[in-house]
Amino acid sequence: MQDIAPAVALRMMHITTRLAAGIAAAFSLWGFVLYSYGDAGARSQVAFFLALTMIGCIFCLTHLRPAALIVAAIGVAPYCVFFTFADQGRSRILAVILAVVGVGMVATILRNYVDFAELVASRRALMAKHKETLRLSDENSRLAKQDSLTGLDNRRAFIAELMALSGEAREVAMAFVDLDGFKEINDDYGHEVGDELIKTLARAFAGRAPESAVLARIGGDEFAVVAAGPDAKAQILGFADTVCQRLRSPFMVGERKVRVGASIGVAAAAPGDCDGHELLRRADVAMYKVKANGKFGVEVYSPELDAERRRQTILMDEIRFGLARGEFEVFYQPIVEARTSAIVSVEALLRWPRRPAGPIGPDAFIPAAEAGGLIEPLGLFVLRRACEEFSGFADIAVNVNVSPVQFRDREFERKVAAILAETGFPPLRLCLEVTEGYLIDDPQRAAAVIAALRAIGVRVVLDDFGAGYTSINYLQKYGFSAIKIDRSITSRIAFDEKARVLVNGIVYLANGLDMLVTAEGVETEEQACILRIAGCQYLQGYFYHRPQPMIDLLAGALALPQPAFAVA
Ligand code: C2E
Ligand code: CA
Ligand code: CA
Repeated sequence: MQDIAPAVALRMMHITTRLAAGIAAAFSLWGFVLYSYGDAGARSQVAFFLALTMIGCIFCLTHLRPAALIVAAIGVAPYCVFFTFADQGRSRILAVILAVVGVGMVATILRNYVDFAELVASRRALMAKHKETLRLSDENSRLAKQDSLTGLDNRRAFIAELMALSGEAREVAMAFVDLDGFKEINDDYGHEVGDELIKTLARAFAGRAPESAVLARIGGDEFAVVAAGPDAKAQILGFADTVCQRLRSPFMVGERKVRVGASIGVAAAAPGDCDGHELLRRADVAMYKVKANGKFGVEVYSPELDAERRRQTILMDEIRFGLARGEFEVFYQPIVEARTSAIVSVEALLRWPRRPAGPIGPDAFIPAAEAGGLIEPLGLFVLRRACEEFSGFADIAVNVNVSPVQFRDREFERKVAAILAETGFPPLRLCLEVTEGYLIDDPQRAAAVIAALRAIGVRVVLDDFGAGYTSINYLQKYGFSAIKIDRSITSRIAFDEKARVLVNGIVYLANGLDMLVTAEGVETEEQACILRIAGCQYLQGYFYHRPQPMIDLLAGALALPQPAFAVA
């Protein structure tokens, strides 16, 4: 049925009412004129059919009350009057019948009209309810697609958008932004600060997203942006770069300055290349690569990354099984006192000699374990094993490497203390080696861990000094007991005047800041000599001892070689 607009319906009803009035008047007039013809029988026939026609018309107009009443008034009332006086009152009975029928009809019309009005009102109410239901369901579906904290699209809406865009004949590109260090902010300052930071970041990202792109929060600390069009990839890469730039400076959350990083994976697809789910997976693979490389940066997906990811997954399984089956071993490399060459300490170094697929070095599996979340059990295995094996050697300290990932763990100090307590290893003989990466990542947390460890008597050494960018200024802030000069510097001192100057400077500074200096990677007598003269207190390297299993160390350590040169 065709819907008629209310205004049109009203106009048509007005016309109908006027027409009804006009036709009723004409019809009545015609009836009166006709009445003067014919005999009594014919007249009563005319009167009967007139009355019947009027009654029929009035009933037809029941739902148009004014028209029905007008027809009743024009078509019935005059006849009542007419029949009352016509034929010297002989037709009065007709007038009475007409009057009774007329009154009955008017009463019916009025009652019908009330029913009809109620029907319309209830229909109206129903329509209003229906509209409200629609509005609520719209609101529901909007909320189901929206992230309540930021007002951005949520994961579901993003995937729907991604699927729709990847079905179009356009290039699609997306970036997967995973925040680095957000969990720590939540842990340190509470969820309110975390939430505020997320909102601030959402605004910062929205301000940098390409105009037609869709930005979404697809997880607690994950954002994603997708764009389509001929330069979608360039736009998304531009977005990723500006986001990285912005994240280099801190954000203000209330009164607080907080820093957060991001690992961003970018993936692009030509029309028909892949669907939305696959594009998201590719961006995730690229993002994972950034994490594996030490976080904070941008990586673009390429199929080689898939192969790498597969190898990484296999390696993670191997490590997990390897730990359970006892495939790992700890080797120890002695650290000697520079003047006497006497062993003062050993560095525990992880080995994987019983790996079924063949042994690989820690340089190959430690970074993978860090990225895959397995460095913690590995690190604690080394710590426990070293503490167990050396608890009986009263005068030898043990150096254990600690990954920056472990340092980030809020429970780290407690776990170290627990292992010391379980193994009975004296904390004063434990020294943890940490590289600078973490210091730059989260200076506050690093300083707090070092202070907590010092409080229980454990020393912390800065490893690989000179290989990165550690600022001298940092050194004094953290409370390191010692620094280890990186092998890359040691290997140059014999022929590189600048390396010698550097070592002299490092020793001078470190000693001035109450830190001892160990030089690692000493392979020749000449290097040992130069380092000793430069003032390094401790030396470590193949020239003295190679990393070896406990059993070999025990056999050899009893007959240590004497220094091959006179000590100044
Ligand atoms: P690192 O902490 O710098 O350890 C010193 C590395 O230098 C060891 O390699 C050691 O074997 C090697 N080295 C020692 N003296 C010499 C020398 O005179 N010449 C040369 N060319 N190399 C020397 P390794 O055992 O392969 O370990 C490599 C890295 O793997 C370590 O570097 C450390 O960063 C990591 N690593 C080893 N074990 C562990 C561990 O238990 N936990 C953690 N987190 N990292 C570990
Ligand atoms: Ca080390
Ligand atoms: Ca080192």
